[in-house]
Amino acid sequence: MEFFIIFAFLLTSFQQASNFIMNIDQNKANHTYTNRTAGNEAGSAASPLHHPEVIIIGGSYSGMQAAMTLGRALRRVLIIDADRPCNRFAPHAHNLLGGDGISPALLREEAKKQIAAYPSIHFVDDQVTAVFKAQELFTIHTHSGQQYTSEYLVLATGLKDDLPDIPGIWECWGKSVIHCPYCHGYEFKGARTAVLASGDSDLHMISLLKQWTGQLQVFMPPPFNFSAPALAFLQAQNIGLTMGHITALHHQNGALQSITLQNDSGTSRNIPLDVLYVSPPVHQALDLRDTLGYQLTASGHIQVDEGRRTTVPGLYAVGDNSCRFRSLSQAIASGMAAGAMINFDFIQSLRPLPDIH
Ligand SMILES: Cc1cc2nc3c(=O)[nH]c(=O)nc-3n(C[C@H](O)[C@H](O)[C@H](O)COP(=O)(O)OP(=O)(O)OC[C@H]3O[C@@H](n4cnc5c(N)ncnc54)[C@H](O)[C@@H]3O)c2cc1C
Repeated sequence: MEFFIIFAFLLTSFQQASNFIMNIDQNKANHTYTNRTAGNEAGSAASPLHHPEVIIIGGSYSGMQAAMTLGRALRRVLIIDADRPCNRFAPHAHNLLGGDGISPALLREEAKKQIAAYPSIHFVDDQVTAVFKAQELFTIHTHSGQQYTSEYLVLATGLKDDLPDIPGIWECWGKSVIHCPYCHGYEFKGARTAVLASGDSDLHMISLLKQWTGQLQVFMPPPFNFSAPALAFLQAQNIGLTMGHITALHHQNGALQSITLQNDSGTSRNIPLDVLYVSPPVHQALDLRDTLGYQLTASGHIQVDEGRRTTVPGLYAVGDNSCRFRSLSQAIASGMAAGAMINFDFIQSLRPLPDIH
């Protein structure tokens, strides 16, 4: 219901809202920007760039989409980005309508060009090192020694993958060592496929992969960690399970050819393979709970409501850091939702809507 009200409001009174925002801009003349383009560096400490209306930490898919929505609502936005998106290892991105098979780097480059067309959006390359909140104002400190303040802050910072320590794994990550069949499974349909499993939590992935290939096997490093029902499932599905440590991945430019598997007694053997699925532990790329005090969910994601609001007023989270379904389309969708919601919350904070219920 909240969403309907927001979008109805945005659609029916966009012109009114624009005029209103313009008035706010005039009242805050000391914060008005000169025209800049994406990639410009911050100016002096007194520069208005240091106090935009909204700061977005993370300038990848979710962050840039939030910025575009806000920029199109004439909001003054600063994106601070360290240029380390999680999918930078993958040469191609899939399952993105209109961009299936595109290079992730090209996709970001194109997005960056598009947001550069909005004069109220600014992009700086820097790494945020600390954030504090006092009197409804966020203060952001960066690696290069800059300091920025805003009333609204968006965390678009993503997740980091803790891959197992196996020689060759990073070279194959996003190419032939993958985490998601919906992203890259089609390219390996019918291929020699394995899952590196640690226990029952991998059963979901294993059961899915039967859809993509008949050549499926499971490797599990000791100790044996499947429950009896899980083992029965593997047997019923005729999926081979081999205990052992993968000690090396052999590949050509990231294209997996085989793995070395070592059993408990130290004997190694080479197993030909085209693709290995892993579900590595992930953690928040930037954890600001100590200073900002927002909550995480049981799955380790930032807790947000439908409008991407965290438990801290003025603080929003978008993309992987707060989405269970890790994908480009989800990241982009959440960025759009946050952008619209922040614009609404901003307007509402200055001129509350009448209660129509
Ligand atoms: C290997 C791999 C392949 C994938 N392939 C696909 C695919 O084919 N299709 C698909 O739909 N999904 C795919 N995904 C998932 C998809 O990439 C993510 O869902 C998406 O990138 C999430 O976008 P995001 O903006 O939330 O985070 P990210 O894209 O991870 O970006 C986070 C940004 O925040 C910045 N940042 C973090 N901390 C700071 C800081 N302290 N200061 C400044 N900046 C900071 C980072 O530098 C980075 O630029 C893949 C994921 C991986 C890991």
